[in-house]
Amino acid sequence: MSTLVFRRVRAIDPSSGLDAEVDVVVEKGVVTRVGRDAGLPASEHVRVVEREGAWLLPGLIDLHAHVREPGQESKEDVASALRAAAAGGFADICCMPNTRPVNDTRAITEMLRGKARALGGTRLHPIAAITLGQKGEALTEMADLKDAGAVGVSDDGRCVTSSAVMRRALEYAATFDLPVIQHAEDHALTEGAEMHEGAMSTKLGLRGWPRVAEDIIVARDVLLAEYVRAKYHVAHVSTLGAVRILREAKSRGVAVTAEVTPHHLLLTDASLLGYDTACKVNPPLREQADVDALRAALADGTIDCIATDHAPHGVLEKDCELSAASPGMIGLELCVPLLLGLVNDGTLPLARFVEALTSAPAKIVGLPAPRIREGARADLVLVDPREVWTIDASRFRSKSKNTPFLGREVKGRVRMTVVAGAVAFEEGAA
Ligand SMILES: [Zn+2]
Repeated sequence: MSTLVFRRVRAIDPSSGLDAEVDVVVEKGVVTRVGRDAGLPASEHVRVVEREGAWLLPGLIDLHAHVREPGQESKEDVASALRAAAAGGFADICCMPNTRPVNDTRAITEMLRGKARALGGTRLHPIAAITLGQKGEALTEMADLKDAGAVGVSDDGRCVTSSAVMRRALEYAATFDLPVIQHAEDHALTEGAEMHEGAMSTKLGLRGWPRVAEDIIVARDVLLAEYVRAKYHVAHVSTLGAVRILREAKSRGVAVTAEVTPHHLLLTDASLLGYDTACKVNPPLREQADVDALRAALADGTIDCIATDHAPHGVLEKDCELSAASPGMIGLELCVPLLLGLVNDGTLPLARFVEALTSAPAKIVGLPAPRIREGARADLVLVDPREVWTIDASRFRSKSKNTPFLGREVKGRVRMTVVAGAVAFEEGAA
């Protein structure tokens, strides 16, 4: 394997205390040198990458992606999801178990890992179900699932509604050091809901999903996690109430963590004014007060990390009435450019942005934290923070195009993703 040199990049790795213009040398899958003028000249065996003003970040990690395999490969499969992930700067992604069939077995967990390993590039880490068939009743064989490579458990798409089942899930998962990842939704309060419940849903005449349906579950789960001393993680936090509960719990040292999606940081329920099915997500887009609370919580660390909730859907599921549309939008390829807007306008400190996509998610699911330092595995992403471009569906690596951000002009672009020393994605390359 030849040597790769990033020349005069701004290397940013908050967990190593690094933010400096340096050369970074990659040899045999490992970062071997970091420093001023540490690079070698280009030669037959040395590739030099130099791009004025570019940033080099540790490889990104996504805790929440739907790869749709097995069962819905027309929307996405392991190969297309990993290509999209690499194009988005991700060296690792975790995939949710609400496939067809549900990933509640060793066989599916191993199949997913095997396929990803054979493909190379971005690594895939299955999150297995909490309950068999995600029915909310009997617990899965978590020891077996962990042994097969699952990094967490979740019934995502469904909430574990029963307090008794959730208590046992937390206790059981804790014995294997697996985080329990909750899709916090009291289904009794959200039946038939199409969007956030508020002035906008009244105006549009649509059934609402009230904030309190999320807050109730987060509050209960925090109490349970504290009681049984287990690791609890809230998926896609969307409400200011949940933020308040998390902040209070963390201030008392409860082992809770949380993620937020780019779309909940950027859009409000007003996006549904034109009944745009691309904006139908679960949990729904909320109000500006929620967006403000989520941004502040991400900036101050109350919300630990950013996760895409990449949810590919075909035309059939989106080119229909809002009530019939499936919830979710794609996110892997757009996360960095969309969120750099918040970095550029000073809402999100750059160090927090990097941490929230690297060391923070790694810690939650027990993956090694990606680092830019000598001796570290070379998982790296090269970003041009100044490049202005327009989001164009024809360029997606994902099989699906369901996003309301088509046509939006963004600033900042992933130019290259390196996984274990090998180039997994390069913008403009064939
Ligand atoms: Zn969910």
